Amino acid sequence: MSFECDALVIGGGPSGLITGSLISKKGFKTIVLEEHGEIGRPEQCTGLVSRRIGNIPQSLVLNTVETARFCFEKRCFEVSYPKKMMVIDRRGYDKYLAEKASENMVEIRTRERAIGLKDGRVVTNNGSFYSGKMLIGTDGPNSITSKLVGLKQPENILLTLQCVAKGFFEKDVVELRFESEFSRDAFAWIVPLSNSTARVGLATRGNPLPRMRLLLKKLSLEVVEKPVGDLVRFGVMDKTVARGVVLVGDAACQVKPFSFGGLVYGRICSEIAGNACIKALEENVFEERFLAELYDSRWKKIIGEALNKGFWMRRLFNAMRKIPLSFTFIRILGLDLLAGKILDPDFLE
Ligand SMILES: Cc1cc2nc3c(=O)[nH]c(=O)nc-3n(C[C@H](O)[C@H](O)[C@H](O)COP(=O)(O)OP(=O)(O)OC[C@H]3O[C@@H](n4cnc5c(N)ncnc54)[C@H](O)[C@@H]3O)c2cc1C
Repeated sequence: MSFECDALVIGGGPSGLITGSLISKKGFKTIVLEEHGEIGRPEQCTGLVSRRIGNIPQSLVLNTVETARFCFEKRCFEVSYPKKMMVIDRRGYDKYLAEKASENMVEIRTRERAIGLKDGRVVTNNGSFYSGKMLIGTDGPNSITSKLVGLKQPENILLTLQCVAKGFFEKDVVELRFESEFSRDAFAWIVPLSNSTARVGLATRGNPLPRMRLLLKKLSLEVVEKPVGDLVRFGVMDKTVARGVVLVGDAACQVKPFSFGGLVYGRICSEIAGNACIKALEENVFEERFLAELYDSRWKKIIGEALNKGFWMRRLFNAMRKIPLSFTFIRILGLDLLAGKILDPDFLE
């Protein structure tokens, strides 16, 4: 089978659905290809977001938190957010975006995995061919689109594992644990859904499973939903456009280098990408330079500085973990208190 459209989106996650919706709303035929049978599954996300996620139905907000506690063994400090963070139903969020996309006439085709390019057309696992004037790669951290069009993703990769666990939690406190027994190069997290359940996970270099077992044991937690794993990739890509192609969201590494959250940056960049694609389709211009101006430079202008701050935070926290004295030093200087005053969870202020 062969399909033609104006905008072909590979990946039915939030970035693909938001970008696709915007383009389709302007009357351009838009198809989203999603490899899984259902949008929002498997759920591999903690769902911790700031208000910058935009207007979402209240029913998707499972909890709100106002304090982040950073722990290095027994030494901890806390940062309070003036505007509470939300813990959202991630599966529900994706489904909500898919409904909106369908209302905007986006055709979402599930169980269609892009596997290659032939004569400028995308080939799927079912042997179908798809061609679009614009190709939008929103296929996540292991983006096949990026490989097919030669846009190299950074090599910074961490493996994650997350489950839902039962225990005793402070409902409005998120805990980040930097002990090296739980994670090499990142941290473990406990994000409460209530006083008795939380999303518990970790990101690390190397095998996350033994570290996860240790974390659950040390915190005396009982697993109620089996651990699910994925990878996170971070870094700044030199280029996220090619002729007739844009990469968006995790595929473009629009992810916080400190916490690996990508929903807010992905939303911001999806809007920029959607508008860039609309302009390209309206003017029938698909040159790389044109797209670089409309998309690459614009998203870097808006979140580039935030990405830099994220890298800086990452280095600071790694130092606190590796050199115990630096924690004391930072406390003496009052940098932890300062962080509480100036820290914007998205680093955008
Ligand atoms: C354990 C974990 C916890 C996280 N917690 C948070 C958090 O608390 N807050 C936050 O903001 N972010 C969090 N993130 C990051 C967040 O999940 C991502 O930033 C977000 O999902 C990115 O959306 P996306 O649409 O760009 O990519 P994805 O959500 O990865 O969507 C990509 C889609 O493309 C599909 N796909 C892939 N390849 C193909 C192909 N070849 N053909 C067709 N379809 C394909 C996939 O099935 C998927 O549906 C977390 C990530 C992980 C791993």
